This record gives sequence, structure tokens and C-alpha cells, in this order.
Amino acid sequence: TPSILWFRRDLRLGDHPALLAAAADGPVLPVFVLDDALLAPSGPARRAFLARSLEALDRDLRAHGPGLVVRSGRPEEVLPALVAETGAAAVHVSADFGPYGAARDARVEDALGDVPLVRTGSPYAVAPGRLSTGAGQPYKVFTPFHKAWVDHRWRAPAESDPAAVDWVGAPSDGLPEAPDLGDVQLPEAGEAAALARWEEFRGTPYDDVRDRPDLDETSRLSTYLRWGAIHPRTLLADLDARNHHEAVFRKELAWREFHAHVLHAWPDSAREYFKPELKGLPYVTGRALRERLAAWSEGRTGYPIVDAGMRQLLAEGWMHNRVRMVVASFLVKDLHVEWTHGARHFMRHLVDGDLASNQHNWQWVAGCGTDAAPYFRIFNPTSQAKKFDPDGAYVRRWVPELEDPTRGDYPEPIVDHAEQRAETLEAYHLLRQHG
Ligand code: FAD
Repeated sequence: TPSILWFRRDLRLGDHPALLAAAADGPVLPVFVLDDALLAPSGPARRAFLARSLEALDRDLRAHGPGLVVRSGRPEEVLPALVAETGAAAVHVSADFGPYGAARDARVEDALGDVPLVRTGSPYAVAPGRLSTGAGQPYKVFTPFHKAWVDHRWRAPAESDPAAVDWVGAPSDGLPEAPDLGDVQLPEAGEAAALARWEEFRGTPYDDVRDRPDLDETSRLSTYLRWGAIHPRTLLADLDARNHHEAVFRKELAWREFHAHVLHAWPDSAREYFKPELKGLPYVTGRALRERLAAWSEGRTGYPIVDAGMRQLLAEGWMHNRVRMVVASFLVKDLHVEWTHGARHFMRHLVDGDLASNQHNWQWVAGCGTDAAPYFRIFNPTSQAKKFDPDGAYVRRWVPELEDPTRGDYPEPIVDHAEQRAETLEAYHLLRQHG
């Protein structure tokens, strides 16, 4: 009897503990379920990247067997039906720790009855929930989490070998079609592309360049990590015993794990303020909200670094980290738009959009999240641009009309930064005084 390997955020065949576990039981039926609940909040770029990632996975599977079985519908209906059809003895997965994924898996487990849902591995080097403080509480602050994470260590990569697996097939609804993206440029999808990207990147003097959007030399692995085309443990194994640059990069990977850990411990923090005392700040509503959100989303605020970032997001489904911080701060503290609106726009368009990393980075910038990012720290878009895009190359790339008016009219600043900064600080002080 076969077992089902249900792929979700682990669209690869190498370093795949759940694949190893499934193959130990006999023949393996590889399945992906197209679940509307997951697809609904995604924009075309995210859908296209998923479709291309599934194509790549199918291609890799076809080198060794009949290929990926795709079924559409609710997983709690699709999987029991597939079990009945194939006589599968178990459904193997990599554990999902997100609020939607965990609830979905509990429903699937119920619906499967006597057939076990076997969770092996996760998208993280250290599974969320594994680490706790001396007092047995989940960490709320990055620095002690990071120390515990490094001390805990991680397993060596799993030696899953697709050539050694007895792959079996079943009728498939077929791969989803990638929506037409026009000029949007996405990275190549799939495990081979992820490994090639890593090969190309490692050795980059990362800590010297990571804050410079103009140089564009960060790893751009976030998208592959999001879809599981590569596992962080693969990267960590490679980084071990290297020098200082690698320690800085490793710490960034730890941030990804920290946010997943926080979301796992406080699932409501995907929507609720992590620091509820900041919930009472005044934010714009109605028409002002719609107008400001539109100007920000479309990259026409009149602040070049903000507009450059927002245009990069639409054009590439990705934005440089430094610029993500600048545009997020601008939306919340200069335009007085609540962070949840910005987070939703990001999740729709970011091809690396990940609920834990996205919501918690937004909360961090908005000042209501974990860690000591005080509410009164407000990014100045002009000095940020001077410091991190010193020759203006990044801005010129995305806002060409600044230099060349034949390319269009560049708008006047939508607000005055100094005034808005004062207003934000005043609102904050009032909230502190009166609660
Ligand atoms: P690199 O600089 O090469 O970093 C390597 C890896 O470390 C990244 O791929 C990522 O997995 C991890 N990492 C780095 N910085 C962070 C961070 N601050 N938080 C969590 N992980 C980090 N990252 C996402 O993966 N998905 C998101 O939806 C997301 N939303 C964000 C929203 C805002 C408002 C901000 C400020 C940041 C957000 N980030 C998010 C974090 C960060 O911007 C991206 O991970 C990074 O820009 C990805 O590019 P890279 O792979 O070249 O990063």
C-alpha cells in the first residue's frame, strides 16, 4: 500500500524529512491540494509563483516517476477521498505551525479517521514551540530567543533521495495555470533555482551590503524559503564553521524563526496588536484612508524612496528589507493608516509573503510588536534615502520621471514629514497620559 506525501510549504525533494518518513513505509503518492482558502488573499504574482513552483516540482518528480497529483478542493474532503481511492495507509506532511494550517490539519486529521496524518519536520530549523524561557514561557524578545536558538542547534540535512523512492501516481486535475503577469518579473521557481541562488549568493560580504537597496546584494532567498523550495537547515549546514559574515546572515534566518515562534505562541497576533495598549492611537478612516492607501500602494506619495519601494513590490513581488521598513513606517506614522491595511497589501503582492514574518515585521515597525522598537522611532524617508541609497540609483531605477519629466509628472509630497512626525508623537503622548 502506498502512503500519500501531501506537499504544502515544502515544494522540494532534497532535505525533506517527511519524504524520508513516507518512503520508509513503501510506495509514495505525491499530492498537492489547491485550496481556495489559501489562494483567495493572493494576488496574481503569488499565484503565478505557486503555479511555477508546482510545475518545477512536477518536473523533478517526473524524472523518477509519474509526477505530481494535483487535486482541487477542501483538504479535509480531498484527502479522505484520495485515501479511499488509493487505499493509502497514511498521509505524510511537514508540520504547519501557522494558525490556518494548524486548524486545517486538525480538520484533516479528524476526517481521515483511522488513517494517520504523520507530521515530520517543519519549515524551520527549530520547530516553533520547541524553545522556551527558563520560566517555561515563550520568548517575546529576539535577543534571548536567538541565543537559545543558536544553543539548541539543528539537525543535519535529511538525506532524502528521490531516485530511491518508489513513486506512484493517481489521476490528477492537472497543474494550475500561471496567471498572465505582463511586465512583472519573478525569480525562477523551483528547488534547482533555489539551490543555484544560494550557490551564487554565499560568500557575498553580506553584512557590508545588506542595508543597501541600490546594491541589491541580499540573498533573495525569502521567496524560496516561503515555499519550501529550500530548507533553512540546508543553508545552516553550509554556514556552520564559517566566518563573521555568515553569523550575520544566520541571525537573519533566526528572525524568520522567531516570528514563526511568536505567531505560534500567540496566534491572534496575526491580527491583534501584540502591545494592546497602542490600539487606541488615532488612525484615518473613510475617504482619507482610501486615498492615502491608494497613493501609497501605487507609489505616488511624492517621497521618492517610498514610491520606489512600492513600485518595486508591484513589479517584482519583492522589496528590499530596508525599504520595507521605510514604506511601512511612512504608512503608519506619516499617513496615519493602521498597520493592518499595509500588511494586507504586502501579503497580496509579496511573493515571499509569510504571515508570521509579515505581520510581525509590520507590528515591529508600527511600534506595537515584540522587541524594543519604540513607537516614537519614526523613519525619516529623506535621510534614509541619503544614507542607504547614497547615489540615488535605487530611486532612479523605479522613479525615472524624477530625472526625466518626459516619463511623467512626479507628484508633490502628499504630506509634510516633519508635521506628521510631530502629530504622531503628540498622539502617542496623549495615549500614554490618558490611556
Ligand atoms: P536577506 O537579507 O538575504 O536575509 C536572508 C533571510 O533571512 C531572508 O530570506 C528571510 O528568510 C530572513 N529574514 C531577513 N530579515 C528578516 C526579518 N526582518 N524578518 C524575518 N525574516 C527575515 N520577510 C518574509 O520572508 N516574508 C514577509 O512577508 C516579510 N514581510 C515583511 C514586512 C515588513 C514591513 C518588513 C519590514 C519586513 C518583512 N520581511 C518579510 C522581512 C525581510 O524584509 C525579508 O525577509 C527580506 O527582505 C527578504 O529578502 P532576502 O531574502 O534577500 O533577505
